[in-house]
Order: sequence, then structure tokens, then C-alpha cells
Amino acid sequence: MACSTASALCERCDAVCCRLTVVLQPEDRIPTHLTDTTAAGLDVMARDAEGWCVAIDAAHMRCGIYDTRPDVCRRFVMAGPYCNDVRADYSDRNRRGIPLQMY
Ligand code: SF4
Repeated sequence: MACSTASALCERCDAVCCRLTVVLQPEDRIPTHLTDTTAAGLDVMARDAEGWCVAIDAAHMRCGIYDTRPDVCRRFVMAGPYCNDVRADYSDRNRRGIPLQMY
């Protein structure tokens, strides 16, 4: 089932939250090949070279471990204030990244 809100749609979500650092909690049960430990000793979801969580199903831009995803991912509110901030920042950075051409 698709989800939607006034400002965010699953059908065109960039899943930018899945590029944030996901700190794991002791109760999370994530396979170790999907996790990493930061220099500060925090257990986190591992990320690929482009910054995406390694658990993302990139073909469909959705969580590949949805049923067992970390607690912090369960608590992330789609179209909530943090979601909107992260999407706005991502959108701004993409816009700034497009070189201007003048003729
Ligand atoms: S565990 Fe799933 S929901 Fe959480 S960041 Fe990774 S892909 Fe996204």
C-alpha cells in the first residue's frame, strides 16, 4: 500500500533519510554485515561509498529490512519536521550542484 501526506509521497520519495547516520540501539537485531562502528565507538548502520545505508533496496528506493529495521528508523516521521528539513537541505544541495551555463 502506498503512503502519502500533503508534502511527501512514497511514489517519489528520495529516501534521503536513509543517508543519515543511523545509530543502533541494543535492542536492534541487525545482521553484523550491515553494521559498522564509528571512531567514537557507536554501532551504526553501514553506509556505501555514496552515503546510502547498505540496507536500502536501491532498485525500489525502500528499506530492504523493513520488518526488522532499527528503532530510530521506525520512529522517523514521514513528512515530519525533521523529514522536511532533511529533504529541503538535500534539494538545496542538488540545486546548488547544477552548474550554471551562460550563453
Ligand atoms: S535500515 Fe532501512 S529505513 Fe533504516 S536507514 Fe537503512 S534502508 Fe533506511
